[in-house]
Amino acid sequence: MTSQRTRMRMIERLREQGITDIAVLDVMLQTPRHIFVDEALSHRAYEDTSLPIGYQQTLSQPYIVARMTELLLQVKPAKVLEVGTGSGYQTAVLAQLVERVASVERIAPLLEKARQRIRLLQLDNVLFKHADGGMGWADRGPFDGILSAAAPARIPEQLKQQLAVGGRMVIPVGDHHQQQLVTVDRTDKGFVEKVVEPVKFVPLVAGRVS
Ligand code: SAH
Repeated sequence: MTSQRTRMRMIERLREQGITDIAVLDVMLQTPRHIFVDEALSHRAYEDTSLPIGYQQTLSQPYIVARMTELLLQVKPAKVLEVGTGSGYQTAVLAQLVERVASVERIAPLLEKARQRIRLLQLDNVLFKHADGGMGWADRGPFDGILSAAAPARIPEQLKQQLAVGGRMVIPVGDHHQQQLVTVDRTDKGFVEKVVEPVKFVPLVAGRVS
């Protein structure tokens, strides 16, 4: 069940769920989501669900990937920082929609697999780093867009500082029980935060990488 028809059904569902950005829908139609999970799970890759990728981490639900990407694209970013590469699926979607993606992951084996998948798809505008993404990637910043796939209790100051004026961060914030998807826009006057909707992400683990 990894055919174009199955993928088309996923896109129809995303439309029903309120995703309207044609570019996002088109890229998700073209991107083979099933190569981002283990083969035993690939038949479930186009279901409207998150899927385990090992190390107690998950590939985000298609709706969430689409929603976060759509929110980020509203500011037309060229350079994007992704925190929490995971499987690399969100990375692949972003890489087809913006000029450059810098992606940081703290679990080395996940990063390695993601790197291979991105290479397989011949996406050559992605840089990876094995580190604590909560610190951002100062050498590569500032970024027009920052997208985090892991939830901190509070938005890390370093990430805010690496956001360019006119840029936007899309990030889940909260604890295990309650999280909200938040957008942070940086204007020349400061930061403007907006709550989008409740979500459920893995926590952003600060400090030591593994
Ligand atoms: N978008 C990814 C989501 C992966 S889950 C996908 O669809 O596959 C979130 C990822 O964030 C996990 O891989 C986890 O290891 C990573 N993560 C958690 N805390 C992190 C941190 N401080 N720095 C970098 N990555 C982190």
